[in-house]
Amino acid sequence: MSDGRFYFRYWGVRGSIPAPGPDTSRYGGNTTCIEVDVGGHRFCIDGGTGVRLYGNNLLEELPVQVTFLMTHLHWDHVQGFPFFTPFLVPGNEFHIYSGHHNGGNILGVLQQLMAQPAFPISMDAFQSELKFDFLEPGDVLTFGDVTVRTTLLNHPGGVIGYRFEHGDKVFVHASDWEHPSDDELDADFVEFIRNADVLSVDATYTEKEYLGAEGPARKGWGHATQEAAIRHADAAGVKRTILFHHEQARSDDALDELGAALKQRRADVTFAVEGERIDLR
Ligand SMILES: [Zn+2]
Ligand SMILES: [Zn+2]
Repeated sequence: MSDGRFYFRYWGVRGSIPAPGPDTSRYGGNTTCIEVDVGGHRFCIDGGTGVRLYGNNLLEELPVQVTFLMTHLHWDHVQGFPFFTPFLVPGNEFHIYSGHHNGGNILGVLQQLMAQPAFPISMDAFQSELKFDFLEPGDVLTFGDVTVRTTLLNHPGGVIGYRFEHGDKVFVHASDWEHPSDDELDADFVEFIRNADVLSVDATYTEKEYLGAEGPARKGWGHATQEAAIRHADAAGVKRTILFHHEQARSDDALDELGAALKQRRADVTFAVEGERIDLR
């Protein structure tokens, strides 16, 4: 059954490793997890540590049906799943899509994650219904009148980007992604994000960090700079750009300072904030 709602909410915005503490309490320290509610369907992109909070938020609404869409299987995108409480409760239904990253898939990763000697309980503890499916980048999924397009993003082992289309509104989540070197544009990326109403995009590094002027050079690590994210959003006619996958050492004050400078460059740019809900309609 469709309805007019179209929103998403960040439950985790941090990249690579959780970074809780007084210096990150405003933007948040949990790793990546984004709830998307569109056309009467519940989706969730990734199961980083933020998925624990998402699960707690769902408890009052059980039983639920949620489609999980995995970008890839790196730790910061899967490590919250063992603590997603609705998995433990009978009556819920979860459909979990992932690609085959480096030959692996989400089911295999969860089985490894939840096994001795690294974890005390196995997936047998999950009493809800879990169904696993596999995607090839480029696949188009439809859920009633919601279309979800997918693409391959440049990241070690490959990443799937997701583009949600419902009526005349478009939301794209594209992280983890590394831009081409220098001032070139990733033409496929620009096409994928074209005319998005909201783009949630990898913007882990500053230019100086990426090039090695501050700390080690990060080229080839699989993440974009804020400048590159904005350059691609400009080229694609994106209406609102939200910078995502914050570097683990980036404090709230540093994000404030960077955000103020980037606003001069493009007025619609903000850094993602844990707990923030953004309505497209
Ligand atoms: Zn990541
Ligand atoms: Zn990654």
